[in-house]
Amino acid sequence: MSGEMDVFVAEVRRFLDANVTRQATSGTELEWGTGPDQIAYFSTDPPDVDAAKVAEARSWQRRRHEAGFGWITGPPEYGGRGLSTVHDLVYDGIEAEYEVPDTGVLSVIGLGMIGPTILAHAQGHIKDRYLPAMYSGEVIACQLFSEPGAGSDLASLATRAVRDGDGWVITGQKVWTSIAQHAHIGMALCRTDPDQPKHKGITAFLIDMSAPGVEVRPLRQMSGGADFNEVFLTDVRVPDDHRLGEVDDGWRVALTTLMNERATVGGEGAGPAARAVSLPFLTALLKANGRLEDAASRRRLAELVADLTATEYLNHQALRRMQAGRQPGPEASVSKLMYAQNLTRGAHFAAEIVGPRLIADTGEWGAYSWNELLLSTPALRILGGTEEIMKNILAERVLGLPKEPGIDTRSPFRELKRSGGTA
Ligand SMILES: Cc1cc2nc3c(=O)[nH]c(=O)nc-3n(C[C@H](O)[C@H](O)[C@H](O)COP(=O)(O)OP(=O)(O)OC[C@H]3O[C@@H](n4cnc5c(N)ncnc54)[C@H](O)[C@@H]3O)c2cc1C
Repeated sequence: MSGEMDVFVAEVRRFLDANVTRQATSGTELEWGTGPDQIAYFSTDPPDVDAAKVAEARSWQRRRHEAGFGWITGPPEYGGRGLSTVHDLVYDGIEAEYEVPDTGVLSVIGLGMIGPTILAHAQGHIKDRYLPAMYSGEVIACQLFSEPGAGSDLASLATRAVRDGDGWVITGQKVWTSIAQHAHIGMALCRTDPDQPKHKGITAFLIDMSAPGVEVRPLRQMSGGADFNEVFLTDVRVPDDHRLGEVDDGWRVALTTLMNERATVGGEGAGPAARAVSLPFLTALLKANGRLEDAASRRRLAELVADLTATEYLNHQALRRMQAGRQPGPEASVSKLMYAQNLTRGAHFAAEIVGPRLIADTGEWGAYSWNELLLSTPALRILGGTEEIMKNILAERVLGLPKEPGIDTRSPFRELKRSGGTA
């Protein structure tokens, strides 16, 4: 390790030792039955507990930021530290050894996807206004992309933005909007010119989620919680300086967000679910259930760990690309695909070990808790781009196979047949 990195590591350890406690985990050993056993991917907490956890996440992000670890790779003029992705990885690796609040509500969408999009496409004073506030935990952002008639085929979106004086008036419906109930701002894609082909004539905006006309309605998931929402936008006024990128050039802006989405979701190395589907946790699970010497279980665990390790290396490659100033490439889609498949296989593996104890909550540590993860895994294969779409990207951009037929990129959006009505 270089001298400069030694100094950084010492600084990180000083900060963490002074603020949080170390986990009772070391190497591949994990003490089964200690600490919290919640391993859900989506929150299943009642609203008051959920709100308390969000407050804890924001407070921890603020402390990180004050200590210079809130946005390690960010530009100093917006409150970042201006260091490399390697420093970021080193910080994450060390922080994973400690008991810290789960900051997923901030990091996955806001800091992982919307922040980089604002940095790349917003006007200077909008960056000043939102970036330091987001990376210090004050402002939570959500992603207002999907609609009832536009998911995988996102460019079919029909939410309208119409110019009105020095601003815009937005009307439409978004759906599956994660964490909208906690968000202060949302990044919305809107149709600004239905006479252009569907990928053109789209413009991106930042919306104040407390503005008149924004209504958030929760959707309940089968894992128990209500993490995502329908968002109805009725004549919502947005100033023109909250536009991201040029008018009608929102698809380019959206691609920045989507590429970062795949890299962020695929690159998630922390959080309770990723911690559970790992060598130490699954080894401890086998041991606690008397299956550590079972050759078939050991083999399955080894195969899973090999794939987890391969995904980790792929993520490092994507991070290095981003560090070199390039967008995450198609490997980010492979990471996202692998991440969802690894968690799904891990949850199924654990479910087989735990057996019927998965079904009812008897209070036994590390048994019923797998149920919540197992029920989250179908959603993981959909969010951030479905498994089929990731495979299409892999086929076309990595393997060079022919493009999918049937996408009309020439006709005006107004003339297209769509499931969500007309523009
Ligand atoms: C938990 C969760 C959180 C989410 N959070 C957000 C959020 O915060 N913000 C947001 O904007 N969206 C969010 N989404 C929405 C997500 O991006 C969409 O659900 C996803 O893009 C799929 O769109 P769809 O649901 O409309 O399905 P559709 O696009 O209608 O797909 C239906 C099925 O058809 C398949 N399919 C579609 N097109 C093709 C094709 N060309 N080739 C092969 N198969 C195809 C799909 O793979 C899928 O199996 C979230 C979704 C989930 C599950």
